Amino acid sequence: MEALRFQVVGEAFKKKPLDVEAPSERPAVYFGRKVFDRKKMQAYLPKDIYEKMVEVMDHGAHLDRQVADAVAASMKQWATEQGATHYTHWFQPLTEGTAEKHDSFIERDERGCMVEDFSGKLLVQQEPDASSFPSGGIRSTFEARGYSAWDPTSPVFIIDDTLCIPTVFISYSGESLDYKAPLLKALQAVNKAATDVCHYFDPGVKEVTSNLGWEQEYFLVDEGLYAARPDLLLTGRTLIGHESAKNQQMEDHYFGAIPERVAAFMKELEIVALELGIPCKTRHNEVAPNQFEVAPIFEDANLAVDHNMLLMSLMKRVARKHGFRVLLHEKPFAGINGSGKHNNWSLSTDNGVLLHAPGKTQIQNLRFAVFIVETLMGVYRHNGLLKASIMSASNAHRLGANEAPPAIISSFLGKQVSELLDHIENADRNNVLSMDGKQGMKMDIPQIPELLIDNTDRNRTSPFAFTGNRFEFRAVGSGANCASAMIALNSAVAEALIDFKRRVDERIPALERELASTDHTPKYHAIIEVLREDIRTCKPIRFDGNGYSDEWVREAERRGLDVEKSCPRIFEQYLAPESVHLFECLRVMNQKELAARNEVKWETYAKTLQIEARVLGDISQNHIIPVAIEYQGKLLRNAERTNGLFPAEKARRLNARILHRIEEIAERTSEIERLAEALSAAQSQAEKAEDAHRRALAYHDEVEPLFAPLRCQIDKLEQIVDDALWPLPKYRELLFLR
Ligand code: ADP
Ligand code: MG
Repeated sequence: MEALRFQVVGEAFKKKPLDVEAPSERPAVYFGRKVFDRKKMQAYLPKDIYEKMVEVMDHGAHLDRQVADAVAASMKQWATEQGATHYTHWFQPLTEGTAEKHDSFIERDERGCMVEDFSGKLLVQQEPDASSFPSGGIRSTFEARGYSAWDPTSPVFIIDDTLCIPTVFISYSGESLDYKAPLLKALQAVNKAATDVCHYFDPGVKEVTSNLGWEQEYFLVDEGLYAARPDLLLTGRTLIGHESAKNQQMEDHYFGAIPERVAAFMKELEIVALELGIPCKTRHNEVAPNQFEVAPIFEDANLAVDHNMLLMSLMKRVARKHGFRVLLHEKPFAGINGSGKHNNWSLSTDNGVLLHAPGKTQIQNLRFAVFIVETLMGVYRHNGLLKASIMSASNAHRLGANEAPPAIISSFLGKQVSELLDHIENADRNNVLSMDGKQGMKMDIPQIPELLIDNTDRNRTSPFAFTGNRFEFRAVGSGANCASAMIALNSAVAEALIDFKRRVDERIPALERELASTDHTPKYHAIIEVLREDIRTCKPIRFDGNGYSDEWVREAERRGLDVEKSCPRIFEQYLAPESVHLFECLRVMNQKELAARNEVKWETYAKTLQIEARVLGDISQNHIIPVAIEYQGKLLRNAERTNGLFPAEKARRLNARILHRIEEIAERTSEIERLAEALSAAQSQAEKAEDAHRRALAYHDEVEPLFAPLRCQIDKLEQIVDDALWPLPKYRELLFLR
């Protein structure tokens, strides 16, 4: 028994970093080598077809059969030159991962001979069996048929021998069964709404892109140690484990030198990521021991989401090559930081203007204020929904558990932008906008430096912080598909912008009459009036203080913000009337799709807790209790021997300590038995709930509360049982061996 844990620990010690063979070219040369990007498309396609394809990619033009066939043929040619033999529609079902079903290019031709073929029909649409993917009610109502349809805006790429084609996944009757379909619709909605608002300032704007730059945090654990922990293996997190004497208190890990074996992993990950066109830029150690981060340069949100999904699967593969397992769970270890995935988000125009960055002129700064305030309006109106969009059974351990960020969505703007908004709000209307002789219009809007990125003015606890030229949505979980957050955020902001424009337009005619005799521009007056209204309305979402304090919870409740902490109740926000209205008006999702997706969310939540409860029960019964009893026996034998060796009085004194320990073990063991039984009973009861929603609530309210007391007893035993007997790798080993 004793040998097992030390064997795996010993193996971990012996691991040497794997030498990574770097490509002979520079990164800029091998970047995108495995992607059929525009440059390759141009080289492989006739000019007229390429131009039609650009129209499809950039402006959603109709894709006709002839173009699809030509594009498919060119993709096949390029892919087979790279050694590919298979292709797959690559999609993002509601499981958080990606799915693929590989088919080879081989076909029989009319003579019965084998040829390799790939038609436009196969490129554009496929029919994978949808019945094994979560789809909520939609599956039963609409049978198993699901279609995957090509997303021409995200380029195809090769992994190993397979050409991967990013697709949406929809049901037979058109309901979304994935993340990409609603994301594309939300991005379209914000594009339209933001472009319309931009026209007040620049009629030349044709398109607005939603940008996403994610920062992926993760832990690495030695593969042998991982395999010896049933909880890590089956749930992705440790369900037990006493904290290590040393953890992150020295703050010596953050930005520290990257350990050799980890560096080798990172190096290889970057090479494969760059080859696949993922613009990885930054890598560093994170705050907790064995925690790290990788971040690319931001991209259009749809592509950025695909790249993040791809990177997460690459991380898992590359980690194993280096004898590691990557943990993408939001809270793999108690007592130290969990992992998030900050979503840096902004809007920008096709003519190169970053709408969330301050500009040089007064008009540009007015536009900046509009986009800041309308973003806040969206976040304010839908703060509960935004929280639901990032919530999961695993992220619940991070949010609201006294760790950045809290489970209340609020926004930090920093001093300068706050002052700008206060100024616009409080200034006299006629002073805010006045004519300045021949100079033209003059606005009393304070100048703000273009470069606002100031580290002293950062609030690390804010879930939605303005960071100079973008907002950073920090509540997103490390294992999540960013699309969920991006669907909610872009939809909420689209709605705010549409509403803003409607009110500005309504005001313009009256202002035109009022200002007819002056040189004033009614349009800008109208904008400022509506802006002032909105600055006042969305004030409750602005919070620059300490997000962890209890006062903030009370204050936020007073302000009408959503302070719910229970994960299954937070999901209910998706079905709140204002959420349904938002998604239906923008045609992102309808009520039926939302209801179906919530079924999946509740179901997933309940299943996650079911597995955790079972694993915790197993560990208690099969690992902990036997070891505790064995150690108890050892102590008992010891006590017996003492009795024979020493006179009665002395033996009694000597044994008092041993007996005390035996007693403690007995008490804790019986408590573990009792709690494990209670856990099992609560779980059986939860399983009886009539529907997914009630089941999720039962798991949350009745099952989950038993985890902590059970863990507490086990962790106490870990401290007193002989280290040589303890069967599971401990926190110090999981966190400090690399
Ligand atoms: P941090 O200081 O938070 O670590 P970084 O400068 O490393 O921030 O950037 C984090 C991410 O934000 C990167 O992916 C980066 O490309 C992205 N980013 C930078 N500017 C913008 C922007 N305007 N819009 C969206 N993402 C951005
Ligand atoms: Mg950041």
